[in-house]
Amino acid sequence: MQPAQPGGYPSRSGKPQDCGTLSRDDFDGDPVSIDEVETCLFLGNLSAATHMETLRSFKITHILTLDSVPLPQHILEASFLTTKYVQIADMPREDILQHLEACVDFIASAVEQQHNVLVHCYFGVSRSSSAVIAYVMKRHNLDYQAAYELVLAKRRFVQPNAGFVAQLKLFRRMGYKIDPGYQRYKMHRLRLAGEQMRKAKILPQSFHNVVRPDPDITRENPEPIVFRCRRCRRVLASKSNVLEHRPRGQPMAPPAQDTIEPTEPRLLDQLSERLRKASLGSPSHENTGSSNQNQCRSLLFVEPIAWMHRIMLNTQGRLYCPKCEQKLGNFSWINACQCPCGETMTPAFYLIPSKVELSKAVQNVQTTV
Ligand SMILES: [Zn+2]
Ligand SMILES: [Zn+2]
Repeated sequence: MQPAQPGGYPSRSGKPQDCGTLSRDDFDGDPVSIDEVETCLFLGNLSAATHMETLRSFKITHILTLDSVPLPQHILEASFLTTKYVQIADMPREDILQHLEACVDFIASAVEQQHNVLVHCYFGVSRSSSAVIAYVMKRHNLDYQAAYELVLAKRRFVQPNAGFVAQLKLFRRMGYKIDPGYQRYKMHRLRLAGEQMRKAKILPQSFHNVVRPDPDITRENPEPIVFRCRRCRRVLASKSNVLEHRPRGQPMAPPAQDTIEPTEPRLLDQLSERLRKASLGSPSHENTGSSNQNQCRSLLFVEPIAWMHRIMLNTQGRLYCPKCEQKLGNFSWINACQCPCGETMTPAFYLIPSKVELSKAVQNVQTTV
C-alpha cells in the first residue's frame, strides 16, 4: 500500500491548509498500530505516537518521528518522553540517508539503557521502517534483505519505498555512516542535486558542496595524480574527482553485492603505479587505459568542479578549459549522458579523453613552493 501524504489531508475545518501551518492536531487519527520489533524497539503509526494510553501501556520513553510535521505539542512536552524529529516525506527522491546515522544512534542509545523506543511515521510502513531496518542492519550486521525480513516478520506492513531501499543498501556499504569520498554516495548527492536543478534551474545552497574545489587552485593536500588540459596543461581534475564506470554489461559492484567494501577497485591506483614506472610526459600512459579491463575510459566522467563555468545556473551545456578555452566536454544535470560503451550517467560532467592528459601534479607544486 502506498501511504498518502499527510499534506494531502484536509484539516478538521475542511479547509485546505498550507503545509507550513499544519500540525498533527489537524489530522484525524487512524487506529493505533504498534509492533515490537525486538526488545525495547517498537515500530508504529502516528496514532500510536499520539495516544497517551498506548505510550504509557507500552512504557514508551523515547519517540523517533520521521514525518512531514512534528508531533503535537502535548506529546513533545510530556515529561516522561525524549523525542527526536526528522522532517521527511515518503518519496523515493527524499534524502533519508543523511538522517540514518542519527536515527540509529537515537534508537541505540535508548535500547542500551533498556528504555522503550517507538519509531513511527504516518502509517509505520516506509519512513519509520527504514530507520528501524538501518538500526537492525547495524546492530546485527545484516544485509538489507535479511534486516527487512526480520522487521517484516514483526510488522507485516513494512515496505520502504524503492529510493529508501537503495539508500539503506548504500548506508550499509559505507559502514553505517556517510563516507563523502565514496563514489556511490557522490552519485546519490549528484542525483539529488540534479533533481533540484530540474525543479529550480539553479543549484540551492545546500547542494553547493557537490561542486568540488578547483584542483588547480587548491594547494592543501594536492593529489599526486591529475588530469590536465592537453593543449595548455592547466590542471582540470584530481584523481578523486573521477567517477569511474565499467563498460555496460559489466557489473559496477564487486560480486559480493551486499558485503561491506571499504574501497572499490580504483583504476587510478593502477594508473599511479604505471606512472611511477613510466616516464612523465610519455603519451603511452595518457591514452584510454586500455590495459585495464574493468573501468571504461571512453569518456572521463568527473564531479562538477569549481572552474566549470555557470554550471550552477544552467541545467546543461559545454565545458571549456578555463585557461585556453579549448572545448573539453559537456555537462547535464538533468539528462542522461550515454558513454560510447553504452553506460549512462545522470547527472553527467564529462571530459573527452583526447582533450586531457594524465600527469603528476606534485612536480608542479614542488616547483612553486
Ligand atoms: Zn587549456
Ligand atoms: Zn563507458
